[in-house]
Amino acid sequence: MFSTGHHRILSALSRSGPQSRTDLARALNLSKASVTALVRELIEQNILDERERVFGFGRPAVMLGLRQDAASFIGVSLQSDPAHVVLTDPHGHVHIEMTIPLISDVDACIAAIVDAVGAIRRDYPSGIGALAGIGVVIAGIVSGDGQTCLASATLGWHGVNIGQRLADMTGLPVFVENDANALIIGEQLFGDSGDLSDFSLVFVSEGIGGAHMVNGRLHRGRHGGAGELSHAPIAIDGEALPCRCGNRGCLETLAALPAILGAARRAGLPDEIGRVVEMAGDGQPEALSILHRAGTALGLALSQVIQFVDPSRIVVRLDPNLVESVFARALRQAVEAHVLRRDSYQTELVLGSLHPRDFATGAASLAAQHFLFGNSSL
Ligand SMILES: [Zn+2]
Repeated sequence: MFSTGHHRILSALSRSGPQSRTDLARALNLSKASVTALVRELIEQNILDERERVFGFGRPAVMLGLRQDAASFIGVSLQSDPAHVVLTDPHGHVHIEMTIPLISDVDACIAAIVDAVGAIRRDYPSGIGALAGIGVVIAGIVSGDGQTCLASATLGWHGVNIGQRLADMTGLPVFVENDANALIIGEQLFGDSGDLSDFSLVFVSEGIGGAHMVNGRLHRGRHGGAGELSHAPIAIDGEALPCRCGNRGCLETLAALPAILGAARRAGLPDEIGRVVEMAGDGQPEALSILHRAGTALGLALSQVIQFVDPSRIVVRLDPNLVESVFARALRQAVEAHVLRRDSYQTELVLGSLHPRDFATGAASLAAQHFLFGNSSL
């Protein structure tokens, strides 16, 4: 449907927002005539439209933008129970949202997803584009071609080619990815970091996941294991707790939600994150200490990410209760204390909320990425 030239224009517009033909020619190092011809074809295909004229110095410019009805995408998150399913447009706006039970039986799980796709097709909203693909997110390891779940402890799956099976049953292209990678692609495409070529994303939930964009591309590592922060060794206070992976002192034994709630339980506090944060806010010493310790542990891990990778930004996605808590302050303090001071630049830390639906939106961004960027993004 699109040539490489089309994809380059769509990629630039989806990452940086509306631009003029002159801006595009400069950014992509193409002649104005080439850009004009490519843009004309994309307007004829109802993918781009012309926006407001901008009156500044010099001649007014017509801005080009991605149409909301250019295409739409289904995102399925099998990251936690219940599974979340969304329908988004190319800007990441959610038009349909539903939950379905997380089913570990492969055939039943695929059948439930196919049913959800059927329900979306029946209730298809007006004013948005045709379905262009499906993204699926799992907590686990996914093959490099984005089709097979190699292993997922959450689902108990090994070697499940869910991509091909769903594609056969829905007639749509399907892209499978792990949770952290899908979140960072969603951040790049639908979030506020599209203009950054080097940034990282870390999320904290049952485990702690990380992903890196390097030179504008997802860095998977040689074996696809880049960003697996949960099991990075970060024992503090000389104490190393046993981890479910068999090692001791892993980051998740200190900073993931189950670790925080386990410590709260042992201290006789309620094992509910909102309550622990509230008690810390009231100055309860054990609650303060538990959150401070967990935030510090994550801050130490992020300091190492910064020293190793030097991203321009790290986006940290947390339980909404933690975003403004002592956990977040301890995290920032640990990063400030442990990252080498530089005069001219500094990695920006952006903390935000994580909702289960975000993984489904991230899943939709996988399909959007393939539609907009083509294979050049892989
Ligand atoms: Zn571990």
